[in-house]
Amino acid sequence: TFEVIFAGRSNVGKSTLLNKLTGENVRVGKRPGVTLKPIHLYYDDFLITDMPGFGFMSGVTPEKAEDVKNKIVSYIEDNADRIKIAVQVIDGPAFEEIVERWDARDEIPIDLELHAFLLELNIIPVVAVNKMDKVRDDEVDAMLDRIAEKFGYDSPWKECGCFAPVCARDGQIRPLTSLLKNEIHKMKRDDLFKYF
Ligand code: GDP
Repeated sequence: TFEVIFAGRSNVGKSTLLNKLTGENVRVGKRPGVTLKPIHLYYDDFLITDMPGFGFMSGVTPEKAEDVKNKIVSYIEDNADRIKIAVQVIDGPAFEEIVERWDARDEIPIDLELHAFLLELNIIPVVAVNKMDKVRDDEVDAMLDRIAEKFGYDSPWKECGCFAPVCARDGQIRPLTSLLKNEIHKMKRDDLFKYF
């Protein structure tokens, strides 16, 4: 089984995105941080795993937030063999603000930490930059370039091959589905070639 996981801080629109992507009814707007257990669903021949939303937010103690983060990390470590792709969902317009806040405290935002961790484990990270409806068309490229830079890339976002601007609310998720299709295609091909 190939597993694809979805991770992101609470309220980025991860459930909305999963609903649009799979047509399944993933609960939207549940209280953040309540579900610690990942939720599984099958899609094609994939296992899709919806990780609990992470991050600090009102109503969730720092201890609980830390707990969620640790659970996500150990889940990924334990299942690294079959997890091939991780979709990291971020709230595009809110992301830069979050990074600035963490920078001011000299801390690394969980999203960036997670990205590096995934690369280390040879899991392909795909960053779904959601809520792009809030960004003016002529500002999209510059914003995505800045986000790519934050994630540690020094090329324009389009060349990184792992960023997909989406608007889950309106079902505009083509950039994500094509990235996923590409990666899955490559994976299956590699899988086939390993027998030769
Ligand atoms: P989750 O906590 O990450 O699973 O987030 P949800 O899917 O529950 O969505 C959180 C909030 O963001 C809800 O109010 C959604 O309607 C809203 N939302 C989701 N996707 C979008 C989007 O593409 N654009 C905008 N403007 N809002 C969105």
